[in-house]
Amino acid sequence: MSRSKRAKSRGTEVGQSGKAQLFILNLLDECPKCGEEVESNEELRQTHLDECTDKRKIAAYAKKLKEEQETAEKKEKLKAAEDEARNMAAWEYSGGKITDLWLLTETQLGALCVQYGLPVDGGKEEQIARIVSHRNALDSKRMLTQGEEGEEVRPKKKVKISTEDLPANMEAMSLGQLKAVAASFGINVAGKKTKAGIINEIERLAHGDQPFLQLTDGKKKK
Ligand SMILES: [Zn+2]
Repeated sequence: MSRSKRAKSRGTEVGQSGKAQLFILNLLDECPKCGEEVESNEELRQTHLDECTDKRKIAAYAKKLKEEQETAEKKEKLKAAEDEARNMAAWEYSGGKITDLWLLTETQLGALCVQYGLPVDGGKEEQIARIVSHRNALDSKRMLTQGEEGEEVRPKKKVKISTEDLPANMEAMSLGQLKAVAASFGINVAGKKTKAGIINEIERLAHGDQPFLQLTDGKKKK
């Protein structure tokens, strides 16, 4: 799920005098002032430039260029939005696991919130928490319905955490990222103020009732 790189601004900016130079040298098709096409002849082009003073034409051409630029910018924005949507589709295709929610961008999480009819405000952490509880409620409902059809299925209240789902590099994550991870697992870490505290809480719940194995080389708290 690689993030889309924003396209770098197209080409290098050439000033108006530079453009005039290119035009005279037949390297530009259109007059940089009025936008008219002029025969590829240096003398003719120099003459055209000298006589190109029609303010109405020049203004119209400037407007056209501006509109073209705006269209290009709109397209770029649209493309960025499409990339985001594609990333989210990839996430959904790979199972749309709630425990992977923390991998999504704030924009993508916002789109999910909209999709589920949830408020979009707040940071990633709040958005994830909302989506998690909403999805859990949906899952519970679905399981109850299945249960009515004969199978006995008990709704689960919490995201089941398996150690395999845990990100490998929690130690290297920022506090904000860790909170987003915790939110993805439905873990409330509001009381935890440090990275270590959050990591401990996530690992404690991931290991469940099993006796907790101290994996963090000897930093045992007593
Ligand atoms: Zn001109």
